[in-house]
Amino acid sequence: MKKAKYLLSLSAYILFLGCAALKNNSVNKPINIQATINLVDVNDDKVKITVSPLVVIQDEIIFYIPQIVPGTYEYSNFGRFVETLKAFDKKGNLLPVESLDKNSWRISNAKKLVKVSYLVNDTFDGPVGSDVYPMGGTNFKVGETFLLNLHSMIGYFEGMKEVPYHLSVNSPKNLKAFTSLPSISESDSLDVFLAKRYFHIIDNPILYSEPNAVSFDLEKIKVGLAVYSPTGIHKAEVYQSAIEEMMIAQKNFLGEANNTTSYDILLHLMDMDELQYFGGMMGALEHHTSTTVVFVDQMKPQELTQNLVDVVSHEFFHTLTPLNIHSEEIHNFEYNTPLMSKHLWMYEGTTEYFANLFQINQGLIDEQNFYNRILEKLNYSKRYDDTMSFTKMSAGIVDEPFQANYGNVYQKGALINMCLDIIIREQSGGEHGILWVMQNLAKRYGTEKPFKDEELIDEIVTMTYPEVETFFRTHVEGTKPINYMDYFNKVGLTIGDTEVPLSSIIFKENQNLFFEAKLNDEGVNQFIVNGLNTTIESMGVNVGDVFLGLNDKLFPEINQENTKEINALLTSSFMWDDKTEFSITVQRNNDIISLKGITGTPSVKVSGVINDTEASEASKKLRKAWLKN
Ligand SMILES: [Zn+2]
Repeated sequence: MKKAKYLLSLSAYILFLGCAALKNNSVNKPINIQATINLVDVNDDKVKITVSPLVVIQDEIIFYIPQIVPGTYEYSNFGRFVETLKAFDKKGNLLPVESLDKNSWRISNAKKLVKVSYLVNDTFDGPVGSDVYPMGGTNFKVGETFLLNLHSMIGYFEGMKEVPYHLSVNSPKNLKAFTSLPSISESDSLDVFLAKRYFHIIDNPILYSEPNAVSFDLEKIKVGLAVYSPTGIHKAEVYQSAIEEMMIAQKNFLGEANNTTSYDILLHLMDMDELQYFGGMMGALEHHTSTTVVFVDQMKPQELTQNLVDVVSHEFFHTLTPLNIHSEEIHNFEYNTPLMSKHLWMYEGTTEYFANLFQINQGLIDEQNFYNRILEKLNYSKRYDDTMSFTKMSAGIVDEPFQANYGNVYQKGALINMCLDIIIREQSGGEHGILWVMQNLAKRYGTEKPFKDEELIDEIVTMTYPEVETFFRTHVEGTKPINYMDYFNKVGLTIGDTEVPLSSIIFKENQNLFFEAKLNDEGVNQFIVNGLNTTIESMGVNVGDVFLGLNDKLFPEINQENTKEINALLTSSFMWDDKTEFSITVQRNNDIISLKGITGTPSVKVSGVINDTEASEASKKLRKAWLKN
């Protein structure tokens, strides 16, 4: 998964995304679980579902909706979205059902059970949906779109997770299904899909929308992109070339480690109200042959393109890990009593590191841009507990205090991989890096063969060098913070003055705002300018000015109640391109001044990672091997 936060809070901006006994081939007895979804008769924003089991041989059976799904690393309790679950015998009589907890129901007289039926709410509205990541959620908008992450809709019967599912969807005429789930038949009103087992129900989300999709071949990969845009502004064709360029570069980077033959991108764009509902959360969730991506429709094409490149490249690298390299905990994922693996440093860390490294390796970005990304990760990682064992955190991630440190898998997790990469390059004379390790692991394991959680690090050490073992024991399993300068020095980098671009004019560095809320003498909150970026500096904004408003709109009274309105005003700047003209209103002494400017490329001089001009030839050579091999 990759998540990003897009809104501000007043105080701080947080950045962030077969049961053998049941096998029976006799004609009268079902060989598949039969599931139906009715998207035509939607009442009160609820969709009707039925699920029919195989023949049940025990007196009681439990029906489950997942508590947690792979890639999210938090409890979602999707059973919360289910209402009025009923169980029926073949004559349509009700069987006794007892709700056991949020996600499971016990059905009695189960030998007579022929189906359960229930209604599901979507996660995009209502009192409880906002804590589910939108990219892992469901959105029902009659006549317009249905985003179906099926783990929030379709459940499984105890002991029948490995049985194939036959899924029928009654669909509105104007909407077309887009999914990597294999279809048996499709028509205007009925689409029928087949999933090999329950995992495939979860692994293949479906997007229903008016046709807005492109499909193209990249050497041996068939790529699809479907877009739902509430205003219809964003067309799939516009994004095809950027995705082509990115995925060709990824394939070149991965080499033989890539064996994906088809990949579908389901891009569901939200409106501003939905973005607010999720507290600014956007991002994507990985699957074996597809990804669900959720961003906001108000993004300019240029900005949406960059976000797609950063996020979809991360998701596509997940086809390497965890999808092709994973432990037993992930392979036999327990949706309702999960055991977590110790290796988030790899599942998310390696993935995020590669999503940045491939861009410099394949010439999509330059060296300084890559170093700035590393610096940004280094700065963000400081918001988390740097002395927490990464393997311990990973194994405990669904509970505190580990859950609060989850975001560090994208920051320190990526940096751990950078250090390992540099160590392996140094020891191998530039020949190998962490990608080589991953290529070997992918050959040894794969989608169907998990590794043992306890053995992975030893296995990597055997493949590499004692220095790799020391690093793992000290900084990944151990609790000692990494001194990154040691690794920068090895590859001829140092800390010095550099100019770093900012994603919006409202920042003075990284994601820190150029102002802070302070009480004035009358006890009223004011936004006081406490730093500048190049754009606002050239407009004439001064440190110490009172920041009153943007584009002739003044902030309301600065308090918790007005957070939404203030956020909306500030985040409007995220949608601007580099040619947008805007104004800032400030109070200086007793004058109210409106300052005008153009967005341009807001940036800031910081102490950052740069090439060391004094570096030795050996370290420059190692740098080249690290970035370009
Ligand atoms: Zn991820």
